[in-house]
Amino acid sequence: MSAVIALDHKSVTSLDTAAQLYGEGLPEALGAREQRKRKQKRCSDKRKTKVVLAQLLRAAGYADKAAEVLRCRSKYGVRTCGRHVAQKIPTFRCRFPLCPDCAVERRCRSEKRLLPRLRQALAQMKHDRLVFITLTAPNSFEHLATHHARFREWFRRLRRNARWAHRIRGGIISFEMTVNPNSGWHYHAHLLAFRKVYYDQAELTEDWMSATNGEAFMVDIRETTVEEGLREVLKYIYKPADLERWTADQVREFMSMKGARFSSVFGNLYGMKVEDDAEDDAESGAEEYGEGDACPECGDPLFSVILTSEELEALEAGVWLRNKHGTEVCH
Ligand SMILES: [Zn+2]
Ligand SMILES: [Zn+2]
Repeated sequence: MSAVIALDHKSVTSLDTAAQLYGEGLPEALGAREQRKRKQKRCSDKRKTKVVLAQLLRAAGYADKAAEVLRCRSKYGVRTCGRHVAQKIPTFRCRFPLCPDCAVERRCRSEKRLLPRLRQALAQMKHDRLVFITLTAPNSFEHLATHHARFREWFRRLRRNARWAHRIRGGIISFEMTVNPNSGWHYHAHLLAFRKVYYDQAELTEDWMSATNGEAFMVDIRETTVEEGLREVLKYIYKPADLERWTADQVREFMSMKGARFSSVFGNLYGMKVEDDAEDDAESGAEEYGEGDACPECGDPLFSVILTSEELEALEAGVWLRNKHGTEVCH
């Protein structure tokens, strides 16, 4: 019982601090605090996933990659007034496809770039509806490259099917691989597609079955919005959520597929890029604020400091930084 009271007391204290810090009303401060807590949880989950990934990479014989994954976003060049973060740039990004941090960044960039273009395409196709489609394949312990090649061939056949072509104008497809310890790779695809004519799930099941020579028949199709559909379809690019279940052999299989694309566009979206490596490089060095510039939130002069990801999180959670040489806890 006393523990509960202590917790309550603590949260009230933090709330006051958040309100003082941001000069906002209590409800907003609560929202900000809740958001920060969630962000911290996500950050620590990602750190755990990176440790697992590094262990797997080492076990698979890729010690250098493992070291890079651990170094990725472990430190940031930060411009801060001591209380607010005006800008943070990681000193190093590993860009490894299975890195959870790099995956999030790639996804955000793709989303920002694709959303206006999809809205535009949709405005041109006034009678189309957007649908979210899932196509699956049977699980197996076959090599990931075998799954990948076969699935793409099945998808090519599906697109040559007259009914599919009549109903689906085009879209974005992303391939996802997860692992079932008992049955091997679960390779499947998610699509955000422009639907010209209503496409019944039973019809799609039939068409997928004929494209796969009866080997696969589990499908799903449902209407979606451009925002939700895009978020969903991008979520599955290199979704590393179940890495804990991968084996070193499976990581090795993934590594052997260097250069394989796990997303693409088809039909009316042909020519759009889901991922863009050039963007990757352009983004990494962009600096908006210089030393001595005014903090966008409070106007105090900004200074530069290199912080570990934990120190940066603390700063964002309300631990104030007096200057580049020391930290000070404000509550
Ligand atoms: Zn990374
Ligand atoms: Zn400030």
